[in-house]
Amino acid sequence: QEDLEKHKYDVLIIGAGGSGLRAAIAAHEAGLRVAVICKSLFGKAHTVMAEGGCAAAMGNVNSHDNWQVHFRDTMRGGKFLNNWRMAELHAKEAPDRVWELETYGALFDRTKDGKISQRNFGGHEYPRLAHVGDRTGLELIRTMQQKIVSLQQDDARKAGRSSGADDGRLKVFAELTVTELLTDDTGAIAGAFGYYRETGKFVLFKAPAVVLATGGIGKSFKVTSNSWECTGDGMGLALRVGSTLMNMEFVQFHPTGMVWPPSVKGILVTEGVRGDGGVLKNSEGKRFMFNYVPDVFRSQYADNEAEADAWYKDPDHNKRTPDLLPRDEVARAINSEVKAGRGSPHGGVYLDIASRLPKEEILRRLPSMQHQFKELADVDITSEPMEVGPTCHYVMGGIEVDADTAAAARVPGLFASGEVAGGMHGSNRLGGNSLSDLLVFGRRSGEGAAAYVHALRGEYPAISDEQVASCMQVALAPFEQHGDTAYEIHQELQQCMNDLVGIIRKASEVQDALERLEKLKERAKTVSAAGPREFNPGWHLALDLRNMIAVCECIARAALIREESRGGHTRDDFPSMSAQWRKVNLICTQNEAGDGIDVVEQPMEPMRADLLALFPRDELMKYFTDEELVDVAGEAE
Ligand code: FAD
Repeated sequence: QEDLEKHKYDVLIIGAGGSGLRAAIAAHEAGLRVAVICKSLFGKAHTVMAEGGCAAAMGNVNSHDNWQVHFRDTMRGGKFLNNWRMAELHAKEAPDRVWELETYGALFDRTKDGKISQRNFGGHEYPRLAHVGDRTGLELIRTMQQKIVSLQQDDARKAGRSSGADDGRLKVFAELTVTELLTDDTGAIAGAFGYYRETGKFVLFKAPAVVLATGGIGKSFKVTSNSWECTGDGMGLALRVGSTLMNMEFVQFHPTGMVWPPSVKGILVTEGVRGDGGVLKNSEGKRFMFNYVPDVFRSQYADNEAEADAWYKDPDHNKRTPDLLPRDEVARAINSEVKAGRGSPHGGVYLDIASRLPKEEILRRLPSMQHQFKELADVDITSEPMEVGPTCHYVMGGIEVDADTAAAARVPGLFASGEVAGGMHGSNRLGGNSLSDLLVFGRRSGEGAAAYVHALRGEYPAISDEQVASCMQVALAPFEQHGDTAYEIHQELQQCMNDLVGIIRKASEVQDALERLEKLKERAKTVSAAGPREFNPGWHLALDLRNMIAVCECIARAALIREESRGGHTRDDFPSMSAQWRKVNLICTQNEAGDGIDVVEQPMEPMRADLLALFPRDELMKYFTDEELVDVAGEAE
């Protein structure tokens, strides 16, 4: 057996995006030894791609904003399927987390009077997104990296050195992919197993607590805004040790991805373009969003261009533009326009900022967008409209967690935060609510893991040699097998999900997808990888495939069961929302044989009365059953 590199830590954080780094800071501050593992370079996590901003009800631009309004917007955006306790904590804590980032060294854009500036975004009643131009994610990661180095420098000083950094209590292992979590014979977390991408060498981490912060799943779909890291690893890892995923049918298709040229299809065009005044138009030059305001939102959105335009300057006396409806509504509207033959030449619609803002203003507010379109599509957004269409962007479903501690269901010692965790965003996430989610629940997951480890009082679980041998065998299997390459299987998987479990779904197509997934699963059992273990992308993808297929099966099975349309799950054959389905979470587990997914319905915990009271009763009636509203005061419309 090869030499195995071994490490022992108190808390293992898998993922160095916003949630992983915030968790690491919290666990270190709780006095524990922490390792952060990431499969990309440190500082290159998917979070750096985040553009528009971080939502927090600081009230800097409109003093009417507060946590209650943010909570309300989040629940409305998620169509009331959110874990309401998570939405409450998120709305209450986000302002402190943003402020705290500035104490770490972040510098957000400012208002004229020197406060952190906030911009409009879809579904947010007031300007709420703290931002750094259109490069907010980069600032988040840069700042937390800096904070981690400063904690290491503090550790060096405490150890009696006058300079340098000490990574003995907080260390980052970059370009290292975790392939398996390990549990002891009681089912509690005992560590993780992985390999260095560069050398292919294996590593074993012993730790009683693991925080999964591995991000999303976009790479399972053909057209996506997500980075290469988003292969649903955390969800696969959690399922294999017996934890649960919830509401995986809810996948967000961002309305505005690039559609041309083909090599860049799916790359994101930030919602900030619409937040700053950009409007959607069809091939006839019409602002079509006025035709797509659903009943539940009619009282909050303008029904004519004059009022929509006036709203940008005077939001207190005008209704907001429907260009900024929640993402699911806008994505479906674009889909319908294209289907009706009113699309752009390359199968999208037009997004026009050029006729709405002076050139200098566009360059000041949206420098990355100008650069992106000029470089990739030879389009000058200061003088021409962009062509845009829906792209797979975010997964609302994820690991089922406890709202307060981020503890994952059923597996002691397992925690999850960020995009890999489910619940917070219900059936549809509002833009900007992810970066704040990372900060709020990243911190809570680090603290939750630390509290768990403290309670163990030094009694750490054991890992058996057989478990480690099995991890090695599974990881090396592609070199012994002679089936298809991972690329072939991956391509078919992406096409299948795009075509059959995409933005609009129907039972027959999802059934078809499930049959294809079964076949792909069989082929994946003999997936082959050629070449050496040193930096071998074909091998890496072969190992990621297991996770992607498991995630896709969860999405498809849950999509078939949920017979309604809500947020990021649209069923052509069940087009309306159902109050009965709103009370149900769909929970996925790995089946007993370990070769498939079971899904069960789980009733949602009723919302606390003081939170329900934040909504008018006639609004709640659009979402809740009559029995649920018996004790809620107020008159019907
Ligand atoms: P990530 O940032 O995805 O990080 C995951 C980490 O896990 C990485 O370090 C990765 O290497 C590691 N990892 C994964 N698997 C493994 C493994 N097996 N072993 C070891 N490490 C592993 N949200 C907003 O709120 N505002 C925005 O303006 C915004 N803009 C966006 C723009 C774009 C283009 C995109 C694609 C998304 C945007 N989002 C935005 C969404 C937001 O960026 C993500 O939801 C968020 O960054 C996810 O962060 P995370 O910490 O959960 O995971």
